[in-house]
Amino acid sequence: MLGVNKPPEYGGMGLDFSYSIAIAEELGNINCGGIPMAIGVQSDMATPALTRFGSDELKRQFLAPTIAGDVVACLGVSESGAGSDVASIKTKAERKGDDYIINGSKMWITNGCQADWMCLLTNTSAGPSHKNKSLICLPMKTPGVHVTKKIDKMGMKSSDTAQIFFEDVRVPSKYLIGEEGMGFIYQMLQFQEERMWGVANGRKVGNQWRPVQTYPKSDSWRVLILYNNLHTMYLWFLLGAKSFFAFIFINISPFLDTSGCFCSFRGCSLNL
Ligand SMILES: Cc1cc2nc3c(=O)[nH]c(=O)nc-3n(C[C@H](O)[C@H](O)[C@H](O)COP(=O)(O)OP(=O)(O)OC[C@H]3O[C@@H](n4cnc5c(N)ncnc54)[C@H](O)[C@@H]3O)c2cc1C
Repeated sequence: MLGVNKPPEYGGMGLDFSYSIAIAEELGNINCGGIPMAIGVQSDMATPALTRFGSDELKRQFLAPTIAGDVVACLGVSESGAGSDVASIKTKAERKGDDYIINGSKMWITNGCQADWMCLLTNTSAGPSHKNKSLICLPMKTPGVHVTKKIDKMGMKSSDTAQIFFEDVRVPSKYLIGEEGMGFIYQMLQFQEERMWGVANGRKVGNQWRPVQTYPKSDSWRVLILYNNLHTMYLWFLLGAKSFFAFIFINISPFLDTSGCFCSFRGCSLNL
């Protein structure tokens, strides 16, 4: 299950991406977000770039045990000052001889406390922000990698989400995935699979109604279930209303003065 669309020579099943989507959809039947998320990060978020661009040696060292389930993978892109705007990450890896020395931090990293390795997006030069990044396989037991305790979030309680700091972390330059400077492009491609997987997994959101039949029918559970379902209905209402206004504004904006706040409203609408 961890490598349905990965090459058989590294332990995968060699099937196409539609099979990963079928698995993502089925995992959506679990009444919990954390478990599918942990699996999805391992199978379709931290590994696509390595599969596509990594050297054979790197794939044998990191990909094969990840597909076998012998090691846990995580993806290190977001930082406390760089979420949606991936190009503005600050973590950097400086080349020293045959090694990279990494300094910086990552935020909201799923599987972060348990991971054996990270697919790390980092700056490797001072050039333009879309051409100065690289992806590196970073073993999490390397000295200088500091993993904070699991972040206590409002939701996704069972999901292992960590903040991670890097202090003069030394990794061999052969752990670079593909070409130096191509990390931003590789990561954007990797996001395609991540987002598709996420959509397929979230498609079964209607299953939130299911606890009504399966949970014990004590009063406290009923209140909780009622609250949960009302909350879900509210979210759907909000999404519907926002989509409606986004549609209206996107269509009328070409006929209006699109300067200033109107322009930014249009941007926000598109973000939906
Ligand atoms: C549970 C969880 C797990 C995660 N796991 C991982 C992981 O494993 N690896 C990883 O790298 N990251 C992970 N993330 C981080 C996630 O990818 C980021 O939260 C996401 O990229 C958004 O970044 P941000 O939280 O900094 O929000 P921001 O970028 O600060 O955005 C805040 C809000 O502003 C809006 N916004 C931002 N920019 C614009 C703009 N230009 N125009 C209009 N609106 C805008 C956004 O849509 C959003 O609503 C995880 C996050 C969570 C919550």
